Parts: sequence; structure tokens; C-alpha cells
Amino acid sequence: MNQIVLTGMVLSTMPVGEYDRRVVILTKEQGKISAFAKGSRRPNSPLVGAVNPFSFGTFTMYEGRSSYTIQSADISNYFAELRSDMIGAYYGFYFLEFADYYTKEFNDEREMLKLLYQTMRALINPHIPNRLIRYIFELKALTVNGQGPQVFQCVTCGNKDRPAVFSAAKGGLVCSECDRDVIDGMILDNSTLYSMQYIESSSIEKLYTFTVTDKVMDELGRIMGRLMEIYVNKRFKSLEILETLL
Ligand SMILES: [Zn+2]
Repeated sequence: MNQIVLTGMVLSTMPVGEYDRRVVILTKEQGKISAFAKGSRRPNSPLVGAVNPFSFGTFTMYEGRSSYTIQSADISNYFAELRSDMIGAYYGFYFLEFADYYTKEFNDEREMLKLLYQTMRALINPHIPNRLIRYIFELKALTVNGQGPQVFQCVTCGNKDRPAVFSAAKGGLVCSECDRDVIDGMILDNSTLYSMQYIESSSIEKLYTFTVTDKVMDELGRIMGRLMEIYVNKRFKSLEILETLL
């Protein structure tokens, strides 16, 4: 058996048998993996606090023929603040569930892991509204996955000067010369458009450095709702619970 060290964040855990857990981790080196945490439900196990959702750190594992077994973990951030903030925690669970759905094994998921980490940091920062964090996360996740809408020029002709509407179905801005068959066109506030341009083009480290007016927040909410319907089209359990709490 091979021993390897992987850096990542725990997305979910599931009890197995009486004392064990199966853990899904988004790793820098190997994308999304599933690992076995033997004995981690025993109260005296060194893994008891380590293999929980949100835990970020390095995991030493044995790599078997078809599965990984976690031997030890060195957690650098537990995001423990979320334990006393139920709403924040459910936003966090939604981001984890989204990442789990959106990522693959042996795929390069370094950008997604970085996004997840910075998003959790934003979530424990009381100065950034949770709703804004959600929209920024969703739009950047689409962008990282190559599905971000075109917010810099007309999707059809590339024009940057004519007035344009935003169409989720067309995948971005459509100018006044090209908009004949657009049925879901929205006229966006300039600040909303600028926010979307910033989210798509900014580095992940600088994503959570701005806030918006209520009007822009509502527009972002409507746009992201439509984009999620078209590109992701999945009901997330954690989001359903979150919506009952808000
Ligand atoms: Zn055009």
C-alpha cells in the first residue's frame, strides 16, 4: 500500500458500521476523493474532530487498490465559527453540497477548492452579507467550470457599445441589433453588470472585497436564480433547509 498526503476540505461524511465513517474530500492533488476513516466515531479516535464537514488541512492516507484509508489528519482550519451560526452553517453546507455535485474524481479541482476555502472565510466574516456570498460563489463556480455568462460584450456579434439586455437563456449580454428572438432579456443596473464582470474576472483571493446596494443584490438574485435553473438544475437539500430558515 502507498502512503500519500493530500491537502483538501471535507465535503461530507457518512457513518459506516458502528465506528467508522466514509468521508468525501475535495483535494488539491486528486480532485474529489472518497476515503475511509476507520474508528473515527470512537470518542478517543484522533480523527474524531478532524473528519467533519468544513475541516481543511492535510490528510495522510493509504492508497489501496480501489479506496483510500485516512491514517492521520492535520487540520489548519475547522471554520468552528459556523458551529454557533446556524444560518451561516447552512450556507456553508450548501456550498459544500454544490462543490460535491460539481466536481469529479481525478479532475483538476484546484480553483474550486480555492473558491470553497475563500468562500468559507467570507462566511465567517460578519461584514459580508451571506446572500452576496452565495451569489458570488455561484457565479464564480459557473465561471471556473467554463459556464460563466458573457458579461463583457454581445454573445452574438461581440459588440461592446450598443445598449444590451442580459439573457440567461442566451448565456449573457445581447445587443439591440441581435435581440430579436430574446424572450428573457433583463435590463441590468450598471452596478449589477459591473459586479458580475468583477466576479468573473477577479482572482479568487480578491473576490470577497466588495458589497452592493439592495437593488443590485435583488438583481443578482434574479439572475443567479435563472442561471442556476439553466446550468445546474438541481435541488440541493441544504438549500431547501436554508430557505425554510430565512
Ligand atoms: Zn450583437
